[in-house]
Amino acid sequence: MMNEMNNSCRIDELSAHCDLRNTVDVLRLDLLHPVVSGNKWFKLKHYLAEAESQQKTVLTFGGAFSNHIVATAFAAKEKGLKSIGVIRGEEPPLPSHTLRNAKAYGMELFFTNRSQYKSKIIPKEIFDERKAENIYVVPEGGYGSKGALGAKEILLRNDVSTYTHIVSAVGTGTTVAGLLTGSLPHQKVIGVSAFKNNHSLETEIKSLLPEEKKNGLMLIHDHHFGGYAKHTSELIKFMNSFYLKTGIPTDFVYTGKTFLAAFDLLSKGYFSAGDKILLLQTGGLQGNLSLPKGTLVYA
Ligand SMILES: *Cc1c(COP(=O)(O)O)cnc(C)c1O
Repeated sequence: MMNEMNNSCRIDELSAHCDLRNTVDVLRLDLLHPVVSGNKWFKLKHYLAEAESQQKTVLTFGGAFSNHIVATAFAAKEKGLKSIGVIRGEEPPLPSHTLRNAKAYGMELFFTNRSQYKSKIIPKEIFDERKAENIYVVPEGGYGSKGALGAKEILLRNDVSTYTHIVSAVGTGTTVAGLLTGSLPHQKVIGVSAFKNNHSLETEIKSLLPEEKKNGLMLIHDHHFGGYAKHTSELIKFMNSFYLKTGIPTDFVYTGKTFLAAFDLLSKGYFSAGDKILLLQTGGLQGNLSLPKGTLVYA
C-alpha cells in the first residue's frame, strides 16, 4: 500500500526550491476498495458495527457527489443492512454517478431543500414506512468520536513510525482527529481543508481530541482553489502532472488540493532537512466522474 517515492524533487518540478532534503511517500488508501475507498472505510467501521448489532436501518446525510453517501450505501449492503441517504437539494433531473451508484447498492434516497438539510431534519415520509427507533443515524461525513476512533486505525496498518509529518485532506476533520490521536509524539499532523472559510473546523476537531493533543494540529485553509468541490486550471494541471510522474491518481475535491498544498510547503522550505513526509491518498476518486471527460488524463 505504501508507494515509495523517494524524493520530492523527482516527483514534481513544481517544487523549485526543493533540494533533495526530504522524503515524500504516499499511503494509498484509495487502493483498499474501489467504492468504499480511503478514509470512509475506517470512519464508518464503528458506526456500522453498532447499527449491525442493533439490526437497524442506516441513515446518513450528504450531497449529490458525496463519497460518504456512496461508501455508506456499499458498506451497509455488505453488512446486510438497509440504508437511507438524505441528500442535500432538489432531486436533479439527471442523477449523478454517485447517486446512481448509491441506489444500485440499495440505498433509498430522499431529497431535502438546503435549509432543511442544514438543520439535519429527517424528511417525514421516511417515517411512513418505518419507526424512528429502527433507524441508526450516522452523522454527516461520519463526523464524531466513533469516526475518529476508526480513522485512528489508518496508522496501524503499516509501520509509519519513521515519518515526521502526516498530511491529510480535511472535510469534517474526523480523519485528522483520528490520525492525530494515533500519532507518535515526534509526529506532526497537517490537515488541508477542502472548504473555504470553515471557521468552526478547529473547534469541531478539538472536541474529538484527547486533552494532550488538542493543540497538535496544523490546519491549512488557503488551498481550497475556489471552495468546496471547486477547481482551477492550476489544480488540474498539478493533478495530471503528479499522475504522469508517479502513477498515483488524486481526486479534485480533497487529495489533489492536499498534495498540492504539501508541495507548496516543500517548495517554501517549510520542512527541515531529513523530515519524512507521509501523504495520505484518502480516496474519493469516484468524484472525478463529475468532471468533463478529458479533464484528467486518468479518469
Ligand atoms: C471525505 C473525504 C475526506 C475528508 O474526511 P474528514 O474525515 O471528513 O475530514 C478526505 N479525503 C477524501 C478523499 C474524502 O472522501
